[in-house]
Parts: sequence; C-alpha cells; structure tokens
Amino acid sequence: MHSRILIVEDDPNVALVLEDALSAEGYETAHASTGNMGMQAAMAEAFDLALLDVGLPDKDGFTVCDELRRQGMQMPILMLTARTTPDDKVRGLRMGADDYVTKPFHVPELLARIQALLRRTQSLASTILVEYRYGDVFVDFYRGRATKGGRAVELTTKELVLLRYLIARRGVVVSREELLSEVWGYQSTNTRTVDVHVATLRQKLEDAPHAPKYVVTARGEGYQFLPNGV
Ligand code: CA
Repeated sequence: MHSRILIVEDDPNVALVLEDALSAEGYETAHASTGNMGMQAAMAEAFDLALLDVGLPDKDGFTVCDELRRQGMQMPILMLTARTTPDDKVRGLRMGADDYVTKPFHVPELLARIQALLRRTQSLASTILVEYRYGDVFVDFYRGRATKGGRAVELTTKELVLLRYLIARRGVVVSREELLSEVWGYQSTNTRTVDVHVATLRQKLEDAPHAPKYVVTARGEGYQFLPNGV
C-alpha cells in the first residue's frame, strides 16, 4: 500500500532526517549505510524508489546506480550529493539516475521531487498508484483515505487494494479469479468474496450502487473500472 523507499546514505544524521521525514509522509523506509548494503537491499526486496548518496565509503553512488540499472532495477533513483558541479549531474543522469538533489537539501523540496518521481512511474503504467480522482470521488492510497463529494468515506484495506487494482487496470475486464489471486493472494473457488467486496465498494462510492457507473460488471467475465463512467 505505502510506497517503499530505500535510503542509501552513510551519514547517520542525514539518514535519520530522511527516515523521519519520509515516514511522517507515510512512506515505508529501509536504510543501508554502504553501497554494497544498498545493492543487497535492492536485490532482496522491491522498492518504489531509491535515494542514493553519492559519497559512500565503499563505492560511490554513481557506481551503485550504474550497477542497479545493469541488474535490471527499474525503480526511480534520486541522487543526493554535496557536489555541485554540472558534470556530476550529467554523470549521475547518464548512469541512470532520474533526478538529483544537492546537499544540504531542503526537506519539502526533496519530498516534492520524490512525489513527482513516483507519479511519473505511475503514469508509466506501473501499479504504484499514489492518489486517484474520478467523478466526485478522490482516493489517497498513501493515507488510505477516500472522499465522495468532499465527504470522508471509510474504506477497508481490502476495499482500497481492490479499488487500486481495478483502477491500475482501468478499462480492462479483470476476472474474479485474477482479483482473488492478486488482491487476496490465494487461489480460491469462492469468488463470492470478490462480489461481496465489489458490492460494498459500490455502496460507498457509487451514486446508485445497483446501477454502477464506474465499477461495472462484465457479465460472466468479471469487473471493469471505467474512469469516465458508463
Ligand atoms: Ca556520504
């Protein structure tokens, strides 16, 4: 649900500032204090974004960035550096970094850059969905909050994950079996579970739950999210 950010930074004070600022924004973080530990962490777990310091004790951030890309890691990488020469920026970008922030950084600016990068990834058809608006509904997937017509609507975690999955595949018919395995994480013949959750989603977010406009039924096939309504 929450985007996961890998922080590769050897200065414990800077790492702490980053971890505090990011967790306050609802991100999950993991911290590695050397380039090699950062590589290991990135190989072991999926992250939505990496913050990569350039000056690391074992190998510099440019090298780590280059190695991550060579390993096929697609997540956005934001380089952090004390260096300010344009050459460093060019070098970082050439190694596959997506953006670059100079130390000492301004926390709100860094957070804005992170959000922008995560949004860009989302628009590249990834399933990382930060927030979404359709009709009079707004959903903030980070904070797990939704509003309809400006009024707060309580969604359960499963409802949020189900909605996010359907929105990520908007316009496509998704079968009940796929929803069960992707949202609930198991293969089951009890597709009634899906129907029940779709019904509660509609009750909470549709104007007319029995004549839904956005989460529609593809008879015999499954469900489909239509961003512009029926
Ligand atoms: Ca450093």
